[in-house]
Amino acid sequence: MNRRNFLRTSILGTALAMSPISFSAFGEPTRKTTKSGRLNLSFQPYELKLRHAFNLAKNQRTTTPGVQVQLEYDGIVGYGEASMPPYLGESVQSVTEFLGKLDLSQFDDPFRIEDIHAYMESVAPNNRAAKASVDIALHDLLGKIMGQPWYKIWGLNPDDTPNTSYTISYQSDPAEMQKEIDECAPFRVVKVKMGVGHDKEIVEALRRVSDVPICVDANQGWSSKEHALEMCEWLAGQNCLFVEQPMPKEMLDETAWVRERSPLPLIADEFLQRLPDVTRAHGAYDGINIKLMKSTGMHEAYKMAVLARALGMKVMLGCMTETSCAVTAAAQLSPMVDWADLDGNLLISNDRFDGIKINDGKVIIPDRPGIGVELIG
Ligand code: MG
Repeated sequence: MNRRNFLRTSILGTALAMSPISFSAFGEPTRKTTKSGRLNLSFQPYELKLRHAFNLAKNQRTTTPGVQVQLEYDGIVGYGEASMPPYLGESVQSVTEFLGKLDLSQFDDPFRIEDIHAYMESVAPNNRAAKASVDIALHDLLGKIMGQPWYKIWGLNPDDTPNTSYTISYQSDPAEMQKEIDECAPFRVVKVKMGVGHDKEIVEALRRVSDVPICVDANQGWSSKEHALEMCEWLAGQNCLFVEQPMPKEMLDETAWVRERSPLPLIADEFLQRLPDVTRAHGAYDGINIKLMKSTGMHEAYKMAVLARALGMKVMLGCMTETSCAVTAAAQLSPMVDWADLDGNLLISNDRFDGIKINDGKVIIPDRPGIGVELIG
């Protein structure tokens, strides 16, 4: 290097050292030039705007509260998020309060995942979405440090990803119902929400135009075991793959009664949150629905999938309405599971990330390190 080029490089180096963030070739901030040797957590509320209002029993919901999280270590930034549908009991306030209590700067080795989770448990119980946001950002960070996506770190084959389902909901206006059905056309599995009335009408409307396999989520809506069994038997003749949470989560004995007689597998969702719940579900349910916002993130979700497999149970992977950040993080696990319901990012209009893709109904995991996302907004 001649003296002029050396000087130019040195000046550029000095300028970079003075600026807090440099930019990669993709324009994304990735690395600060000063090495902290500590985990630095930052977060901000981010309201998720729904493409279509959720029609609930008493009202409509057009947004989902969320919190976006960054975890920085030696200039590398990992992304995470918490999504808080109101029925789960967390809010922007509870999540930011929990995150505000964390002092992750005490960890000089970001690979201490178990220690970091034990520390979060010691700060407060519950707060599962808040813990998930840190866990996802930590996994993104560690994958970037290792230069590998998590499906590879876990030794999974990305060709083994399942089809993902797309949820349609009942519309009383036939034109609106047809629109719902048209939107699900690229998907190989369609999820139908039941337990709020119109249970058979929605399937009959779909069956008039499509024989696509369905899965049914009763959302605890069938309160008698006889009715739950009757619906399972009817659905078995409708090309249905499984039924999710047929009865209220408290009715474990009744659910086990239905399971003994049902021609379709029963999957636990509301019943099951974290790792110890998998053994509780065993015997009453055929499988479990893992969601990162319930499981406190990827670390425990992986353990739940391994345990369920060891118990001979089916595994389904779900999500909340989330940006591509959390949905792509979940997708890293998807080669391990039987069924995926990873459409949460498709339901919002203000996604901040590029990540998971769906090709001909099948989950495609991006070939990027970490959780596989790139910040776009
Ligand atoms: Mg469900």
